[in-house]
Amino acid sequence: MTTAAAAVAAAHRIVLKIGSSLIVDPATDAVDMARLEGFAAAIAAWRSAGKQVVVVSSGAVALGRRRLGERARGPGLERRQAAAAAGQSRLMHAWESVLDPHGVVAAQILLTRDDTETRRRWLNARATVSALLEMGAAPIFNENDTVVTEEIKYGDNDRLAARVAQMIGADLLILLSDVDGLYTADPRRDPAATHIPFVGSLTPDIEAMATGANAEAGVGAGGMATKLMAARIAAAAGCATLIADGRPTPVLADDRRCTLIAPATTVKAAYKQWIGGSLATRGRLVVDAGCARALAGGKSLLAVGLISADGDFGKGDPVEIVDGTGAQIARGLARYDAGEVSKIVGVRSGDLESALGYAGGPVVVHADDLALRETAAP
Ligand code: GLU
Repeated sequence: MTTAAAAVAAAHRIVLKIGSSLIVDPATDAVDMARLEGFAAAIAAWRSAGKQVVVVSSGAVALGRRRLGERARGPGLERRQAAAAAGQSRLMHAWESVLDPHGVVAAQILLTRDDTETRRRWLNARATVSALLEMGAAPIFNENDTVVTEEIKYGDNDRLAARVAQMIGADLLILLSDVDGLYTADPRRDPAATHIPFVGSLTPDIEAMATGANAEAGVGAGGMATKLMAARIAAAAGCATLIADGRPTPVLADDRRCTLIAPATTVKAAYKQWIGGSLATRGRLVVDAGCARALAGGKSLLAVGLISADGDFGKGDPVEIVDGTGAQIARGLARYDAGEVSKIVGVRSGDLESALGYAGGPVVVHADDLALRETAAP
């Protein structure tokens, strides 16, 4: 059986989602600093073990409501948005104060659903997260509750966390709340409910078990149903999901109960499938025979192998890659925009700087961002 600690040990890139009920101390109506310190210590330890960790932290609305008092209670989206505005700064302040002693810089990223569904913004957010991770910072995500409207919001951070996991190619999504996993029925109502430690695939039978559990927890927005929706998104992106109780300390260090949901594919395969299948291309790169062979052999597309380029693509946009006969070889994400590519068609690495006017690498489409057509023979 997989334990929480073993799942964490095996992971390289972790998205840690922490629910509101773990962040807000109901006794004081403030951030539960002792618990947050525990999370910070876990994050620091995982980072020292060579893992990359990003956090999705709830709590803005709950903290803001408590700060603003009665005025922020009651129905209405604007009240919730006002509460989020007042609570988000407090939330980040708390994260800074627990991460600073570990020498970790907390960096706030507020997303809306649009940001994860519009490709350009998605790529941009992805690049920002990579830059932050390279600089050793800890990105702390939340939904941008103050600007989202009912139609365009996630509404729960479980799914937001799954989208973040997909965006950054995480291999483990940890959903921490006050429930220790999936049960055959709601354990609060049904004493016969049994705990499920491992889910190999998210069948309709498994999803049917998620009715009601945690639904009336009161503080956060997500229940078990949203956790399984999140797990489904993560699984399709090659990411495992761990659902665990975040209350015991140290965080996930022992063999406590949890549910691990296996990924349906690998991160790499899911990413390549996304590039190969679901994107409309914005340009076309024609490559010579040597380059075509190199691509089929798993290499990157270099400027020197280009015969021509057309289209109006930006940096990060999907492009179609064809050989001299016009046959489609691959699709990939361009590392240069169309204007830059036009200057470096067929240019050798040593001459790139003078062609571009600045120092740039020879890679036009990196092998990692390239999905070969099935028919392309090596
Ligand atoms: N974004 C909300 C907040 O920070 C939380 C949503 C959730 O609980 O899933 O308050």
